[in-house]
Amino acid sequence: MRTFTARDPRTGVHDWRGQALDPAEVAEVATRLRAAQAAWEGRGAASRLEVLRAFGQSLRRHAEAISAALEADTGRRRIARLEIDSVVASIEAWARVVAADAEPQWVQGRGLPSVRHTAAWKAYPLVGVVSPWNFPLLLGMIDAVPALLAGCAVLVKPSEVTPRFIAPVMAAVAEVPDLAAVFAIVPGDGATGQAVVDVADCVCFTGSVATGRKVAVQAAGRLIPAYLELGGKDPLIVLEGADLEAATDAALRGSVLSTGQACQSIERIYVDRPIHDAFLTRLVEKAEAARLNWPDITAGEIGPIIFDRQTDILAAQIADAKAKGARVLTGGEIETHGGGRWLRPTVLSGVTPDMAVMRDETFGPLLPVVAFDRVDEAVALANDGEYGLSGAVFAATLEEAEAVGRRLEAGAISLNDAALTSIFYEAAKQGFKASGLGPSRMGEDGYRRFLRRQALIANTARPLPLAAFSEEGST
Ligand code: NAD
Repeated sequence: MRTFTARDPRTGVHDWRGQALDPAEVAEVATRLRAAQAAWEGRGAASRLEVLRAFGQSLRRHAEAISAALEADTGRRRIARLEIDSVVASIEAWARVVAADAEPQWVQGRGLPSVRHTAAWKAYPLVGVVSPWNFPLLLGMIDAVPALLAGCAVLVKPSEVTPRFIAPVMAAVAEVPDLAAVFAIVPGDGATGQAVVDVADCVCFTGSVATGRKVAVQAAGRLIPAYLELGGKDPLIVLEGADLEAATDAALRGSVLSTGQACQSIERIYVDRPIHDAFLTRLVEKAEAARLNWPDITAGEIGPIIFDRQTDILAAQIADAKAKGARVLTGGEIETHGGGRWLRPTVLSGVTPDMAVMRDETFGPLLPVVAFDRVDEAVALANDGEYGLSGAVFAATLEEAEAVGRRLEAGAISLNDAALTSIFYEAAKQGFKASGLGPSRMGEDGYRRFLRRQALIANTARPLPLAAFSEEGST
């Protein structure tokens, strides 16, 4: 075991210390979970659902401790509680997906009429989940719930930046022994994550593109599937005729909710030139009205930067943009309060495609705004770059927004809003380009990806003898 610490982003104090599991310990946990998996799969989906419902109730009983742990790691209170609510609600949402799943039927063969076939779905025995720090509980559980419902055992390794929720959530798990047999969350760092990939039969990874590539290579070496949910650089296009009040509301919320520490944050805004100046003026006014949740955690909209090193990325992107000629219209300075670090919504104009703020993931409350002259130009700019997580289009009508949205190379497009995937989870989608790999984590595919399809093929006639394939008499 190796010791690691966690920092409270409101105080800057490393006031948590814990042990990272080493590979032998991860293998031990994996062996224990695997041993219970067959019985878990064998009990059927309805019975597993009851166990998960009991877990939901247990999470509610432990909500105060879980919420306090999330608050200490993320510096925000309402969003911490929303994480718990989302996980509990997801159990019923997945229950609906499972209920809609039709029982496989026998199908008569066409090529060989005496043969019929059907499908059986077999769970991957052990699913490994590796998750990031921005929504520690939500992203730790987002793949675990459907995988457990599908009949898999699940081993989660959350980010070392935000480990405090593990103990209270595992206390909630312990009160549901049937679940505790097949589910564990273990603390650790990147090396622990690698160890999880080494023991799993299927991996779900949420995190950066750089780490995602390493996970994909490691999983490929083991010939196991890796479902990757990675970073983004989401564009918003605002067309002439759009409602400016609505568009600026959506742009601001889409960019700075969770202080921009969300994969689906809007990170580039392209505005039709005739409305560009009015849009910018209104956006700056609204950005300036946003308040820090400091010193009172129950006030304001902007929480601290959770991961200290993220602050350096934000400062570097702002400095690079300024050095290349961009103007900071509001925000732009990293502020230190009580030991924590904050950044107010930062609106930038005069940005160009060569700037880091227009190319690299920001993961913070930066809003670079650019004017465009033609829709084709806006679409080309939005599609430029390595990411394709999501995007958004605002127009006078939904039809106009849809026509442009369909041209964007990204997995989820919000129309006349922005970053809708942060509040609406039902639509199935994939990450395009470097933003992800694998089937949708939402909808039916999100459940199916934990099941391997087996064919049962029955012959109702006498099996063909070898002689039926004899070369005798062939011409
Ligand atoms: P990260 O890639 O640094 O770390 C993610 C996890 O990977 C952590 O648990 C870490 O310990 C682990 N890890 C590190 N090295 C590893 C290795 N070699 N093998 C296995 N595991 C390893 O990401 P982060 O900084 O925690 O999170 C921020 C990133 O996550 C951003 O890029 C963001 O866009 C992305 N993200 C994506 C989604 C999505 O759904 N697409 C959601 C949230 C965050």
